[in-house]
Order: sequence, then structure tokens, then C-alpha cells
Amino acid sequence: MKAAVVKEFGQPLVIEERPIPEPGPGQITVRMEASGLCHTDIHAAHGDWPVKPTPPFVPGHEGIGIVHATGEGVTSLTGGERVAVPWLGHACGTCRFCLTGWETLCEWQRNTGYSVDGCYADYFLAEAAFATRVPDSVDPFEAAPLTCAGVTTYKAIKVGRVQPAELVAISGVGGLGHLALQYAKIFGATVAAIDVTDEKLELAKELGADLVIDARTEDPAQVLQANGGADVAVGLAVDSKSFEIAYQGLRRGGRLVLVALPAEGMLSIPVFDTVLNGTSVIGSIVGTRADLDEVFALHAAGRTKVIYQPRPLTAVNQAIDEVLQGRAPARLVLQPS
Ligand code: NAD
Ligand code: ZN
Ligand code: ZN
Repeated sequence: MKAAVVKEFGQPLVIEERPIPEPGPGQITVRMEASGLCHTDIHAAHGDWPVKPTPPFVPGHEGIGIVHATGEGVTSLTGGERVAVPWLGHACGTCRFCLTGWETLCEWQRNTGYSVDGCYADYFLAEAAFATRVPDSVDPFEAAPLTCAGVTTYKAIKVGRVQPAELVAISGVGGLGHLALQYAKIFGATVAAIDVTDEKLELAKELGADLVIDARTEDPAQVLQANGGADVAVGLAVDSKSFEIAYQGLRRGGRLVLVALPAEGMLSIPVFDTVLNGTSVIGSIVGTRADLDEVFALHAAGRTKVIYQPRPLTAVNQAIDEVLQGRAPARLVLQPS
């Protein structure tokens, strides 16, 4: 089988021939059908963040496929089922976070495509307990982006405590943003979408944004304030400055939800305004297995649309360039070699 491997940070991935992995106790081997390219995989391949993966490693955490083999002790899956393998590859199940619905904060978690090999491969391993069943009616190429971009933004809308009739600003209409926009609408909000490319602004309109803001030619904070200020702003653009701009666009009592993770990302905000305005700044990391079930249920019910284009696994480096140059449609999804 083929796998796309990061050998060295900042270098193109190398397509390698590897044996199909054998599942250990509690594990499954999945035959890949579709594997989404999240911007996080690019950060991983570049070694952008303070906690770094160790090369060589296989990125990818939007993996959809069919259970090919099961390891010792696996009873929840028998083979042949379609599953999704997300960023949260394992959590301990016994810490206070795991026990209170916050498994995404578990200190003993393992992350797919980061601390363990991920889904940019014809076959990949997963912990059976963290592989989520994909409903039959959900297409695998649509399931892939839902597995990270979907669950992450669904959770971000939840932790932002979005209420009907609120104004929600979505900063960055990429893989994550195009779904964030739709979840904000499902929660009843009025949505302002911000981006820096014509294609993404057009897409935002098509997906039902009430207001689109071109950050190249307009000051998003001013436009938001002219509309009463955003109750919630979700930061999904890979640009630290965009967080500050989103903060400035909030109304009193506003919530800024940080999701994007630009290299050396920093946010500088005035304490005085934050206190007097009762502003909340909230970090939000992916979502739980239960959140992912909800995301798939919404999609199966026809409530969300996934915008993607397929690319061969072997063309992963060109696909990464497309994302970095802002030329990709909302999501690129790799298919087996
Ligand atoms: P993407 O490249 O698909 O989308 C980014 C979008 O931001 C693009 O549409 C781009 O045109 C737009 N953009 C760039 N500069 C902008 C600006 N100044 N203002 C407004 N828009 C701008 O990336 P993605 O896959 O959606 O991921 C976005 C970020 O979220 C990445 O940093 C990724 O690592 C992070 N992420 C975080 C989590 C989490 O759990 N917190 C999960 C997944 C991804
Ligand atoms: Zn991701
Ligand atoms: Zn735990």
C-alpha cells in the first residue's frame, strides 16, 4: 500500500510503499475511501506549533474507510463497516475531562496524524473505540470533511453559546468556515462571513451568509459594528491579525471563539475593554465522539452541504500548494492511490 510521509518539516511529503498495518489489541485496520486535507496537516508537516510531531509520520485525521481487520478484544466492529477516524485518536476514559464530556481535553490523548500515524494512506490503523460509524446515507467524500472541519466548527458554535437572533461572524470561509457558517444558521443566527478571496466570498453567499465582508477592501470590525456588533466571532483564518479584528467587531457581552492555529499565533487585546464589555475569549479544540455523531446526523438529515473536490493521494503535495495559495474549494479530499 501507499502512504504519504512527512520525512522532514517543510519538505514535500514522500509517497512510500509500506505493508498494510496489522491491528493490535483494541485496534482496527481501515481501508481508506476518502481522506480530507485539513490545514492542521499542513501545520504538522511544517512543524508550525510548539508541540511537534516526530518525523517520519503520516498526517491525516479526516479518514473515512471500511473496517478491513479487527484486533484482539474488538467487539464493537466486526469488519465491513464504514467508519470515520478523527483527530482524537485515543483518550484515557477515566480522567476528570473524559468523565465529564470533555474527552477532547484529556491529557493522555493521542492525535491521529500527529502523535500517531494518520489517514494519508491506502490503509491505516485506529483505536476501535474512537472510530465513529458513518451513517449509510452519508457519502464518504462528504463524511471526510465533517470528521474534523465539521465537528470542530459544530463544537465552536456550541461553546460560543450561539442563540437565535444573534449575529455571528465567521472569519475565514475555508474547510472549517464553510461548515461553521451552516451550523451558525442551524442555531438560528444571522451570519456575517469574512474572507480574502472572491471564490470564498461567493461560496459564503451561496451557503446562506446574510452579510459577506471582503477583508482586503473593508475593515471587518467596522462593518460588524455598523451592524450592531457581533455577538459571537469564530476565528478560522490562519492569520493572527484576523483574531484581533474579529475581537474589535464584537458587541458588549460578545464571545470570541479561537479555533485557527497560525504558527506563532498571538492575540493582544485591551484588558479595560474586555472587562467593561464583559467579553469572553474562548479556545475551542475539535469535538467529542458524541459531537461527531450529531454532525453526521445533521448531514444525513440534509441540513448541511459539504463543498469538496477529490485529489489522488499521490498528488498530496500539489493539493497542499492549492490550499496554501487559497485556490482550493472549501476542502480537498484525497482518494486511495
Ligand atoms: P483553510 O485554509 O481551508 O481555510 C482558511 C480560510 O481563511 C481560507 O478560506 C482563507 O482564504 C481565509 N483567510 C486567510 N486569511 C484571512 C483573513 N485575514 N481574514 C479572513 N479570512 C482569511 O483552513 P482550514 O482547514 O479551514 O483550517 C483553519 C485553521 O483551523 C487552521 O489553522 C487549522 O490548523 C485550524 N484547526 C483548528 C482546529 C481546532 O480544533 N481548534 C481543528 C481543525 C483545524
Ligand atoms: Zn483538522
Ligand atoms: Zn482522559
